[in-house]
Amino acid sequence: MIQDYNPTDAWVDSRESTIGLVREERRRQLAKWGERTYDDGTWVKVIAEEFGELAQEMLTIQFDSRPEKIAESIENRKKEAIQLAAVCLAYVQQLESGSA
Ligand SMILES: [Mg+2]
Repeated sequence: MIQDYNPTDAWVDSRESTIGLVREERRRQLAKWGERTYDDGTWVKVIAEEFGELAQEMLTIQFDSRPEKIAESIENRKKEAIQLAAVCLAYVQQLESGSA
């Protein structure tokens, strides 16, 4: 009998490599910028900047969908989405630390 089985756990486990990419990006950001504490207004700007870069990549492929651009665009959108997720993770970590 499987105890405490939660199908959500299986879903999360199957995406560990993706979550690992966010973790890796967060480490890269920490190495580059160090631990930062911002007010909400600054966080909004940081998050908006990353969101804007993702939107720019989405817009680029919408208007230039040549086959040779598609693979590059997938990588660029993935990179920007991971950066956005890592910045949001940093924000959540600050909230959890109680220093917000
Ligand atoms: Mg970015």
